[in-house]
Amino acid sequence: MFGNSFRVARIAGIDIEIHPSWLLILAFVAYSLSEGFFPDQYEGWSTFAYWGIGISAALLLFVTVLIHELAHALVAKRRGLEVPRITLFIFGGVSHLGRQPASAGEEFQIAAAGPATSLLIAVVTGAAGFALRDVNDKLEAMLLYLAFVNTALAIFNILPGFPLDGGRVLRSIAWKRTGSFRRATRIASNVGELFGYGLIAIGFFLLLGGLIFNGLWLMFIGWFLLGAARSESANLQLEGVLKKLTARDVMRADFPSITPGAPLQAVVDDYMVGQGERAVMVANGGTVLGILTVSDVRRVPREEWPNTPAQSAMTPRERIVTVVALTPAVEVLVLLGEKRLNQVPVLDDGRMVGLVTRREILERLQLAETLNPDAGAAEESTAAT
Ligand SMILES: [Zn+2]
Repeated sequence: MFGNSFRVARIAGIDIEIHPSWLLILAFVAYSLSEGFFPDQYEGWSTFAYWGIGISAALLLFVTVLIHELAHALVAKRRGLEVPRITLFIFGGVSHLGRQPASAGEEFQIAAAGPATSLLIAVVTGAAGFALRDVNDKLEAMLLYLAFVNTALAIFNILPGFPLDGGRVLRSIAWKRTGSFRRATRIASNVGELFGYGLIAIGFFLLLGGLIFNGLWLMFIGWFLLGAARSESANLQLEGVLKKLTARDVMRADFPSITPGAPLQAVVDDYMVGQGERAVMVANGGTVLGILTVSDVRRVPREEWPNTPAQSAMTPRERIVTVVALTPAVEVLVLLGEKRLNQVPVLDDGRMVGLVTRREILERLQLAETLNPDAGAAEESTAAT
């Protein structure tokens, strides 16, 4: 989602990134302020003044959103969490936290810091705007606008949609009350989903009532919150189960092994069709020479299978992607996805001791989740705050 973001600054050791979608919103806000909002509210300025104040106000909005995110990030850092970067995108900002908060109190402080800061900005800019009332109507206009949007930002963020700040505050309270991070996450993401559905429904009614732009916008935000709430709870379940497992725990040690001279036809008949194996090891005595996968076999024309030895079709050992026995199972799963592999051999002290397959790692996960549904908090996550 944030793949195309580019870095614009570095503050307190945190990379500040902008997603291209933000530039679109910036242009849209600057345009609607300069051509709509300010001309409606304040008469008699020059076009140059409307656009000057409009662009400045849009840029300052960008700065206040950034300050909101920095508030989250700095509280998190003070509590010892790593915050590698902040990304500004279409809905505001995201602080990427190095791990989930360790306690309910910690989560509450990190989540509440953002809306509290927005509210503070609203009070300060509002007061300054009123003070400049009869002195400079352009500065007044800009400051009152900032007060207005920061109030809106604070309110939007304390809505209980997970993973908005309000959803996180809700989770921290549920966490405190239930004592379980996972149950609290489930509660918060259920409320978040409900909230997403609610926004979509309200948007739909606005749409029917003729408020097409507002209706679509609400439905879009609802749809976004729905997806975010769902993926947060799914991630958590996976991570909770996976974090304690290593490659050794999820591998099979009884991987099938064949001699280098075995003809492909026999391997296909005995192992692949016969036992449903997607890969077999090619070994000579105790030494593993390579791995023969279904894809390797497919590259050889079918009529040559009886006369082709496994060794000449296999992927040789030096070209195989491997993992060591202590690699966390999460990393193995990510590796399988990234390299589009169905299996990966496991090395211990340079010896192949097992094979982790995608199918089996997923089965193991399901089993572990069924047997141990409250396996504890996750270690790593990105947190939209
Ligand atoms: Zn926030």
